[in-house]
Amino acid sequence: MSQRPQPTKVYSREPVWDASRWLPTTRDEVEARGWDYLDVIMISGDAYVDHPAFGTAAVARMLEAEGLRVAIIAQPNWRDDLRDFKKLGAPRLFFGVTAGCMDSMVNRYTAAKKLRSEDAYTPGGEHGFRPDYATTVYSKILKQLFPDVPVMIGGIEASLRRVTHYDYWSDELKPSILEDSGADLLIYGMGELPLKETIRLLKQGVPFSSLTTVPQTAVLLPPGQDAPKNKRWDDFTLFSHDDCLNERPKYAKNFKDIETESNRVKARRLFQQTGDRLLVVNPPFPTMTETEIDSAFDLPYTRLPHPKYRKRGPIPAYEMIKHSINMHRGCFGGCSFCTISAHQGKFVASRSKTSILREVESIKQMPDFRGTISDLGGPSGNMYKMKGKQQWICDECVRPSCIWPDVCRNLDTDHTALLDIYKSVRETEGVNHAYVASGIRYDLFLHEKGATPEVKASHEKYIDELAAHHVPGRIKVAPEHTSDHVLRVMRKPTFDLFYKFKEKFEKAGEKAGKKKQPVIPYFISSHPGSRPEDMAELALKTKDLGFRLEQVQDFTPTPMTVATEIYATGVHPYDGANVCVARSPEEKQEQRSFFFWYKPEMKKALRASMTRLGLGGIAKRLLDDKRVTEDVTPPPHIAPCGMQLPTSGNLASGQPSQRLAAATKGAKRPMKKGAKPSKADPRAKTGPEAKPKPKPFEKFFKKR
Ligand code: SF4
Repeated sequence: MSQRPQPTKVYSREPVWDASRWLPTTRDEVEARGWDYLDVIMISGDAYVDHPAFGTAAVARMLEAEGLRVAIIAQPNWRDDLRDFKKLGAPRLFFGVTAGCMDSMVNRYTAAKKLRSEDAYTPGGEHGFRPDYATTVYSKILKQLFPDVPVMIGGIEASLRRVTHYDYWSDELKPSILEDSGADLLIYGMGELPLKETIRLLKQGVPFSSLTTVPQTAVLLPPGQDAPKNKRWDDFTLFSHDDCLNERPKYAKNFKDIETESNRVKARRLFQQTGDRLLVVNPPFPTMTETEIDSAFDLPYTRLPHPKYRKRGPIPAYEMIKHSINMHRGCFGGCSFCTISAHQGKFVASRSKTSILREVESIKQMPDFRGTISDLGGPSGNMYKMKGKQQWICDECVRPSCIWPDVCRNLDTDHTALLDIYKSVRETEGVNHAYVASGIRYDLFLHEKGATPEVKASHEKYIDELAAHHVPGRIKVAPEHTSDHVLRVMRKPTFDLFYKFKEKFEKAGEKAGKKKQPVIPYFISSHPGSRPEDMAELALKTKDLGFRLEQVQDFTPTPMTVATEIYATGVHPYDGANVCVARSPEEKQEQRSFFFWYKPEMKKALRASMTRLGLGGIAKRLLDDKRVTEDVTPPPHIAPCGMQLPTSGNLASGQPSQRLAAATKGAKRPMKKGAKPSKADPRAKTGPEAKPKPKPFEKFFKKR
């Protein structure tokens, strides 16, 4: 093992706050560049942070590299006389609109539909700087002010709302966001390749209205217009939006078809009738090559928020990731509650080592860098460079996940390339620590299926090196639940694997002389399939492990995930099986309360809850047995786009006893032995034999 480099002070200078280093945001900044027109104006729901992890900057820098004149209007005021939208006039080519790095509703509201106290993408964490459904609000304003200028929408909000989708916050099935927003073109997924192709065609003089066959875009054709002829793609017609509104099975089948197509190497073009217009969703570009993804990260970012925010306080999401490196995009995990593969794709696009080390050098130049790279990660921290061994097998594959229900024999889980990057980064002069804060998939190195001796050796080495060099005190992993039947709905491996990982990781830590590196598990409550008794089991298992959970996550149904579709319909879109779902605030709160079994104020209500569930034995072990446990507040969660995810918060900061009292009000009597659960009882079994319980939200299937 090479010797750890001595800490090196890299610099002590102040940043250069010359606004001309950023893309212009005001008329003065545009004029200072000597520009008398703009090609593209980007409107964003996030503050402008000139960093590759922020989509607006990534797209704007790419357009700049294409030779276009680009300006950014970040977080415009949509409630006044709209001067922010007018201040730069009309662009020559189009407006580009994005809600930002997150869906605006996820950004603004908790899983309980309460306003969040902080917006992580706004200076000072202040909230109130973006509207609900930001993409739609911004697009409508632009169409009203500049009716002749095309509007293109993109980013995660547009991407995941590209077809009929369930919107949790309004409890409605909404049509493609193209319909509501009035935008002319939608780019889904990572925007670089479709944007480059769009710019190429526009430069050739193709009118914007004729851009109907660009891969990875969607358009809503005018009434009566047929889909453009195209020999490149096979076509597939989804059930219409009206069909979805009226018939739950059709809506569920649509989701399965959409997800299947988005997981194929060669997807089909999708059609969906929406009112009197045809929605056309063109297939995506192939996974980015190393050169293509490198070029997206190697642009001249300042890596800093725009100087105008200096007096408004730090931007929490930026503070979280400013010294971190995203090494790849895409995820083949296929977790039911996650949108990554629908947005970034199932196949992983990895940067070259040269590009990553170049970014390390850029970080070293940052004024506040003190030698710690906070994350060498990605959507799943250890999927770097992983792909199928035989591409022709992947070409035919429609599996939503390469690692669930088990690791595919064709998947190459060699960690050697990743280990090489880790070593090079930690041995870079000026780098004292290189941590891995992104969640890692331990199933990728705890399996033996199809693994050669060399690959198995890379698995062992990965655990050793992770424990020895790359853990910032504690390591966070995400088993998400402990019950096998919930984990099946989640598409996650059995909890037994967590025990295995914990044991191996602790041994590796001991070997490296680092005994105190706790493994912190991350869990979700109220995920479809999860019942209160499953949460009781979770509480007991985590207590037995010596954990006291503090920061936890409630399931939030975001558009375009399997779990959301189950939440919306009550059935699994793949097999039509009924799945129990916690929907009411009381049901959700009850599940969440089990995380906090150790709080004295929770015990009475939890005992009542478990007695009602017929779990008296578990109640005794959970609430009465004395056992030493430890607070396991997880380290900050780095979300797939490299951002910190807002969590549902720490119950300790609220009034748990009142909330739990509300949650357990009207608690039912425990079931008698042998009694069958009623239809409306959350204790009802999942599976095809279980009858669906009446769902108050089903109104949208009959509406309109
Ligand atoms: S064949 Fe295996 S590795 Fe390839 S896409 Fe399918 S599941 Fe993934």
